[in-house]
Amino acid sequence: MEKRREPVRVARSSMPPFEEYAGMIRELWDSRWLTNMGALHHRLEGQLKEYLKADQLSLFVNGHIALETALKALGLTGEVITTPFTFASTVHAIVQNGLTPVFCDIRPDNYTLDGDKLEPLITDKTSAILPVHVYGNFCQIEKIQEIAEKHKLKVIYDAAHAFGEERHGIGAADFGDISMFSFHATKVFHTIEGGALAYHDPELEQQVNGLKNFGIMDEETVAMVGGNGKMNEFQAAMGLCNLKYVEQEIKKRSRIDRRYRERLDGIKGITLCPEAPGVKRNYAYMPVVFDGYKKSRDQVAAQLEVVGIYPRKYFYPCVNAYACYQDRYRPEDTPVAHRISMGVLTLPMYADLPLDIVDEICDIVLS
Ligand SMILES: *Cc1c(COP(=O)(O)O)cnc(C)c1O
Repeated sequence: MEKRREPVRVARSSMPPFEEYAGMIRELWDSRWLTNMGALHHRLEGQLKEYLKADQLSLFVNGHIALETALKALGLTGEVITTPFTFASTVHAIVQNGLTPVFCDIRPDNYTLDGDKLEPLITDKTSAILPVHVYGNFCQIEKIQEIAEKHKLKVIYDAAHAFGEERHGIGAADFGDISMFSFHATKVFHTIEGGALAYHDPELEQQVNGLKNFGIMDEETVAMVGGNGKMNEFQAAMGLCNLKYVEQEIKKRSRIDRRYRERLDGIKGITLCPEAPGVKRNYAYMPVVFDGYKKSRDQVAAQLEVVGIYPRKYFYPCVNAYACYQDRYRPEDTPVAHRISMGVLTLPMYADLPLDIVDEICDIVLS
């Protein structure tokens, strides 16, 4: 088949109207306040706090640095239990803090950390649990909280995929001690690069905001050893513009999600993520698991690529199969995550993806 249009990638950044962004950065030419918690940073922090229903919120230059800072702010030691079915950032954030990741397998239904397999992994060195609301599927929040309280562990959620999601009216920012959101260009809401921490404890605010600015508390006091995690004003401007349209973008994504489900749900050998009741979704991703299908995941991916459609094997390989971790971990130790990673293909999903391309993708998958 010939290639007759622009390549279709797995994600495509949402862009606000150019004039709106240009108008907002005009202010920066006048003020010459480009970073270090300027006016736009302040405005975006306030608006996101409200949108995410967060008690406390701190903006960051990106989601990964936010996550590293969260672990540092909580003063964790020893081992942190996490999932191997995630993006590199989750586990690297643990290791970068000098902590040891311990991998818990995932649930076969929604691919989040399996609360039933959590307790046997807890040792006297465990200080925290770092689960991921993977693809925006909520973790077993109550169960994880109960186990954490019993063993006096902190809970940090990687909520990079859960922007704006709610369960029974409670926002993702409400769960655990700290939740990290990513505003990377490919996410549902973006600030080009960017991220945030949402948390409850007001005493964490000083710690978190100090750590993202070299530990500088005031002109003469450097109270802690911190790095540089500050979001700049150009990022904040992009966030303020995009936030106005995010509900609209999510609505458009929902139509694409529905079309994929109409075409692919119930096909033997193809599994879609279940839609949990009471959840306000953001439709960030369209993961499809091929297991026992007439074609393998790799064959389907190759067939799509022939016509210029580029899905991603997201997440493959599992983190415990990475070259940088293979001397310490084996993917076979988390068999469910291993099996899902071998079959998963994340199909293109973005607000402006035309429905006829969704149909074309489904035709190829089904043919
Ligand atoms: C995107 C992402 C991150 C990191 O976010 P950045 O903003 O790109 O640093 C962390 N965890 C998960 C699961 C992600 O998808």
